[in-house]
Amino acid sequence: MMIESDKSLLALNTFFIDASAKYFAELTTAEQLHEIISDPKLKNEKKLVLGGGSNLLLTKNFDGLVIKNSLRGIQITKEDAHHVWIKAAAGEVWHELIMFCVERNLAGVENLSLIPGLVGAAPMQNIGAYGMEVKETCEEVEAVNIHSGEKMLFGNVDCKFGYRESIFKHELRDQLVITFVTFRLNKIFKPKISYGDIRKTLEEMRANDITIKTVSDAVIKIRSSKLPDPKEIPNAGSFFKNPVVPKKKFDDLISKYPLMPNYPDKSNQVKIPAGWLIELCGWKGKRIGETGVHAKQALVLVNFGKATGEEILSLAIQIQKSVKEKFGIEIIPEVNII
Ligand SMILES: Cc1cc2nc3c(=O)[nH]c(=O)nc-3n(C[C@H](O)[C@H](O)[C@H](O)COP(=O)(O)OP(=O)(O)OC[C@H]3O[C@@H](n4cnc5c(N)ncnc54)[C@H](O)[C@@H]3O)c2cc1C
Repeated sequence: MMIESDKSLLALNTFFIDASAKYFAELTTAEQLHEIISDPKLKNEKKLVLGGGSNLLLTKNFDGLVIKNSLRGIQITKEDAHHVWIKAAAGEVWHELIMFCVERNLAGVENLSLIPGLVGAAPMQNIGAYGMEVKETCEEVEAVNIHSGEKMLFGNVDCKFGYRESIFKHELRDQLVITFVTFRLNKIFKPKISYGDIRKTLEEMRANDITIKTVSDAVIKIRSSKLPDPKEIPNAGSFFKNPVVPKKKFDDLISKYPLMPNYPDKSNQVKIPAGWLIELCGWKGKRIGETGVHAKQALVLVNFGKATGEEILSLAIQIQKSVKEKFGIEIIPEVNII
């Protein structure tokens, strides 16, 4: 397999940060990983697995080996009266997998339409949108240990999924290359349309029936109108996770800010939209040099053209500081800072 040196990553991250990798390899078969592992030149290099580059911020050149995941293939592996199991290679485009399911009338991922990136990264942060998360359908994750070459299988519970969290993002960070993900899709469709503007959009679309396809179309329509396209304004989606605070802290806050949106959970904790907190700190639409906060979405940091990763990180730190000062809340990046 070809190992490139000093490879530009500019076109491989949606923030369009001009950083490079000391070494770069594109993985088209899982077996090629063994070539990497047994190559003495690469053995002790730091490693970064790259999917679509839509959830990371490169703050400097990567002093190691970037492994770009380009494993392809989608296969139906099993079927019973209620479910269909689909195994997808980690390098498949996430939205194309959704379209594969929608075309076959398989439910469970339609609300996740149009999320950028590749299949292999979906379990990493348990991607979610419009009231649905990948943990609801992710049955098994297949991975290879980057250091030993050992193949590993993780069932749904082993993945330790949480809100934008998993074992892959924490305990096993930088240890594995996720190679395949198996999803269990439903033949029976139970629409989830109470989140965001899905119901309203379906009405506007004059969709006579609520089907897997119409819900997916509605999500695509909403996302296209609300979220900046990284090709036009480079970004990595929501930069921060929504903070979850104890009920007592929330009670104090709501007495000061009665209009604060909030989503209580079952464990006496309350999720607060980070975008709202950032907006109230006056950041929405602000520009500092080549970077800034999107004018319509305070949660999205953008690169206006020539920003460096360090400049975007510096903006993120300033935002974190002002949210902490105003509300006493720590907001944590959702984006992987490299
Ligand atoms: C406009 C926009 C909108 C977005 N909307 C959403 C949203 O609604 N919901 C949501 O959850 N996310 C959203 N995101 C974030 C992003 O799309 C997802 O997190 C996506 O899953 C990232 O996929 P990727 O292939 O681009 O991952 P990358 O950015 O390439 O990688 C992300 C992390 O996963 C690791 N990784 C990637 N592939 C593998 C692998 N095969 N094995 C091991 N580690 C791996 C990387 O090392 C890195 O740490 C959005 C991003 C953008 C730009």
